[in-house]
Amino acid sequence: MTEPMTKSRTIRRVLAVEAVVLSVAIVARRRPTMAAAMVAAGAAGAWAAFRPGSPLFGPVLRHGPRAVPRAALTFDDGPGPSTPAILDALAKEGVKATFFVLGRQARRHPEMVRRMRDEGHQVASHGYDHGILVLRGPGHVRDQIRHTEEAVEQAAGPGAMTPVFRAPHGFRGPATWAAVRSAGYAMAGWTKGVFDSADPGPEVVAQRSARALSPGCILLLHDADGWDPERPRLHTAAAIPDICAAARHKGLELVTLDELLA
Ligand SMILES: [Zn+2]
Repeated sequence: MTEPMTKSRTIRRVLAVEAVVLSVAIVARRRPTMAAAMVAAGAAGAWAAFRPGSPLFGPVLRHGPRAVPRAALTFDDGPGPSTPAILDALAKEGVKATFFVLGRQARRHPEMVRRMRDEGHQVASHGYDHGILVLRGPGHVRDQIRHTEEAVEQAAGPGAMTPVFRAPHGFRGPATWAAVRSAGYAMAGWTKGVFDSADPGPEVVAQRSARALSPGCILLLHDADGWDPERPRLHTAAAIPDICAAARHKGLELVTLDELLA
């Protein structure tokens, strides 16, 4: 597997491409319509790539039915040091969630992936190494999906992986959707994120989650850090009881993504 592409490197490359497009457009100013179309296409591509819910690069699951009082907690980037505490908290609340795991982390902590499955949670894919996919070709994306599926199935048995993929940061390129579809996966996004990855304190994570939760909501949380595998998510783990209490208070049942979308 090649080096994962970081967010800043991807953005630098996209800006470089945009600069080339702009220069070509300036040179071609004798054909202003074509120049304008090129600039517009470049801008639309960048917008779609870095906007997690944009439909330009394929359909994204972002919401369940709004008529049913259910919502889904989803956790990205694990398993990691805080995953056992999050699983403990969910077990205490009797809540099932969906974990978008990294293949790299499933290899490090197979026992946690097994535990997710044994305790009735859903395991889905966040790719192997959290590299940004915007500028990657379909072969690379398929490898990310395949290696993650292998890691999860080795940890928790055949069929342990739900074929749903959430791209790192939600960033996608033209090849991402084709690769995801050819692997037989659906593409997932989220309804609301609460920026728990910035460690704003358990109370803030819980308050933002309480505000975000509504019928059909897919809430984005993190049980680990995609770029720093040793970093815990103590604030997210500590917020789980209050998040679950807020959902109950709103009359919402917290379910897995599959149950939400059923
Ligand atoms: Zn992530």
